Amino acid sequence: MIFAKAGSIWVAWVKEYLLKDKSFWYISIPVNSTWGWRKILKLRSYARGLIQHVLGDGSDIFLWHDYWHPSGPLILAYGAKIVPDSGLQLFAKVSEVVNGNFWNWPPARSPQLVQIQMALFDTLYPKSGKKDLVIWTASSSRVFDTSSAWHSLRAKQRKVPWHKLVWFSHAIPKHSFIGWLAILDRLTTRSRQKKWTSSIDDTCLFCSSGVETNDHLFFNCQFTKQVWQTVCSMAEIPLFCSWQGLLAWLGKSIRRKSVYCALIKLAWNATVYHVWRERNSRVYRQQFRSVSQIVNDILFDVRNKVLAFATPKSSSLLMSIAVQWGLVQVQKPPVQS
Ligand SMILES: [Zn+2]
Repeated sequence: MIFAKAGSIWVAWVKEYLLKDKSFWYISIPVNSTWGWRKILKLRSYARGLIQHVLGDGSDIFLWHDYWHPSGPLILAYGAKIVPDSGLQLFAKVSEVVNGNFWNWPPARSPQLVQIQMALFDTLYPKSGKKDLVIWTASSSRVFDTSSAWHSLRAKQRKVPWHKLVWFSHAIPKHSFIGWLAILDRLTTRSRQKKWTSSIDDTCLFCSSGVETNDHLFFNCQFTKQVWQTVCSMAEIPLFCSWQGLLAWLGKSIRRKSVYCALIKLAWNATVYHVWRERNSRVYRQQFRSVSQIVNDILFDVRNKVLAFATPKSSSLLMSIAVQWGLVQVQKPPVQS
């Protein structure tokens, strides 16, 4: 924005009071500036290679600091010594080595300055009367947008097989978040807490007969097993003997974009969320609910979400599942008179 939005009041203010005819890339971070301005300056290294200048008359381009030369920002490519060697100022503009449509460099007094001028020979010339342009190289349109900025800066990694189980268009964000932590085994179960504080009792609060690990809480516990059995039966998910087995089946079975797949994903995330919520309720508030109460909460959340984006008639949902989740009313036979 500082480079492209010349008409913005904020940009004009930044140039007048913060940059003061100095290059954005070269100024130091002031101690007494605002938090936002300090953050912007700290992130400069991420954006520097993505912002380039297309040379016009050179009046808006900093000679040593902006990316307009084929070699990149000259002060980075050739070192700070080229500035005193050239006899030009640190914040000189390109227009200072231009005469109309031709270059007008001072005599080169170092091999680096010779290289800089040789690289321009027959490849790049100024255009008198034409404004310099700023382009955002991360986007095909050459115009800045947040999407291309995000994709160019983020660290790309291989997709995990379960990502569609947790992150999908109709997901309930708080459910997905807890589901995501559960899959990564990052929920603060009592067994994890015991690693930090050995005096903590790590016994499961549901069954009082096992250590509260991720696997126990969401799969092996006799109490939560009843919740899973009910939900799996309602969603026609086969029963598995391990948490990893269930995840592997879900990873393969939810690839289609159908209402049934969406319901399975919502049901899985809602079950993990409400089991974890019940666990926290028992730890912090000493409030206990039954299996049927937890199942009712899961059913309520899933039903409301499915009804918000699908109607049973247009869905590919089996009627038996639609009835179980309360998505359609069962028609009573007419009373014979
Ligand atoms: Zn248990």
